[in-house]
Amino acid sequence: MKRIILCSLALALPTALAAAGQPAPAARPNLAVVADFPGGSAEVASIDQAARLIRLRPADHPGRGWRCWWYFKVTGLVPGETLTFEMTADGFGLPDCAAAGTDDRTWRQTEAGSRAKGSVTYRHKAEAAEMYFAWGPPYLPRDAEDFIRRAEKTCPQARGFELCRTLEDRPVPALRLTPPRAPPGAPAAPSDAAPASPPAQPAAPSGVPSAAAPAQSAARSAPPPAIWVQARQHAWESGGSWVGQGLAEWLISDDPRAAALRARAEVIFIPIMDVDNVVRGAGGKNESPQDHNRDWSDHPHWRSVQAAQRLIRDLAAEGRLALFLDLHNPGPNERDMYFYCGPRDMMAAPQVADLEAFMKAAVAEMKGPPVFKGALRETGPKYDPKNWQRMSKNWVNANSPKTVALTLETGWNHPAGTADGYREVGRQLGLTVEQYMRSR
Ligand SMILES: [Zn+2]
Repeated sequence: MKRIILCSLALALPTALAAAGQPAPAARPNLAVVADFPGGSAEVASIDQAARLIRLRPADHPGRGWRCWWYFKVTGLVPGETLTFEMTADGFGLPDCAAAGTDDRTWRQTEAGSRAKGSVTYRHKAEAAEMYFAWGPPYLPRDAEDFIRRAEKTCPQARGFELCRTLEDRPVPALRLTPPRAPPGAPAAPSDAAPASPPAQPAAPSGVPSAAAPAQSAARSAPPPAIWVQARQHAWESGGSWVGQGLAEWLISDDPRAAALRARAEVIFIPIMDVDNVVRGAGGKNESPQDHNRDWSDHPHWRSVQAAQRLIRDLAAEGRLALFLDLHNPGPNERDMYFYCGPRDMMAAPQVADLEAFMKAAVAEMKGPPVFKGALRETGPKYDPKNWQRMSKNWVNANSPKTVALTLETGWNHPAGTADGYREVGRQLGLTVEQYMRSR
């Protein structure tokens, strides 16, 4: 009897699976998980080959920060079959939707997974025999290098440079856009050091500067104001790099407002501050001996912080650093975006006025999705009593009191938490910067 039931099952199962769109077991290779590539992170608990179910967690990297980043490849898939994977992690490591892709370059979101306590189960119909899955769209040093090369080809003002080498001897790629030099005898253009001249057109929130503005600013002799943009002090927050790239992509575009900003200001962009943890596939946040964003002291441990401080000090000494932006992703329930600033009661009145002008520009330009509603929080002594002065923007405030220094937290746990969604946030942030610089 038993044998008959088994035989019947053996006959019935392939038919049932075929009816459900799943290939018959005999036709399916075994599933395997691969994560030994730059940025890869997965610890497999089990693989149920019959159920096509993988249970896993982010890889453990003791001392390298939160265990919330995951990124792996699944092999042995039959295109068309549905893969199920159950990810166990803390809340930061459990987005509603995972990033999925076939080529490790272009990413889209899976359907929302089903949430249980401490885990989310994602289901995805395989488009290829090998598929990549990740917490969010990965952004690796190769992406930064590719983008910087593209910027150099597209925009004569763009030049790549190496910020520094990490403690593990990896390059930290960086991009600088420098305004064109003034022809001899040309009149000075508006600069950070000089009072801003009136805009060529009324500075309406979305007003496009006239074509004269870039030409006027091109005739520059005074040192230009500088804007510093950096991302990924926390390795798992890949969205920050995409936001920064979106800003820089807009900046090298032929949008007249981008051209006007390029002509007016120098822009420095560091897509990944913590290259080692990004390559390792570690979370980075709260790493040992200290978090990158608690390292901004007189004696920083991390090389990228040391190098950034050197350049920022030089810009501050020249009175040129107008704006400092540090790009992050917040907690899973923070779906809107918001900025952090230093304690306003420690700022001089002109700095508070500049901060308010920037926030006004952000509300006007960052229309979403998700829409920016003006949220500005402070990270002073109450936020982190021991280390608040060692946070990037607070260090910038202390060392360059005329600079507006902000952290942008871009929500990730929603449909716009994709590479394209983040890049659009970056474009709108670029428009904000342009409007703010024009209004100064
Ligand atoms: Zn962060």
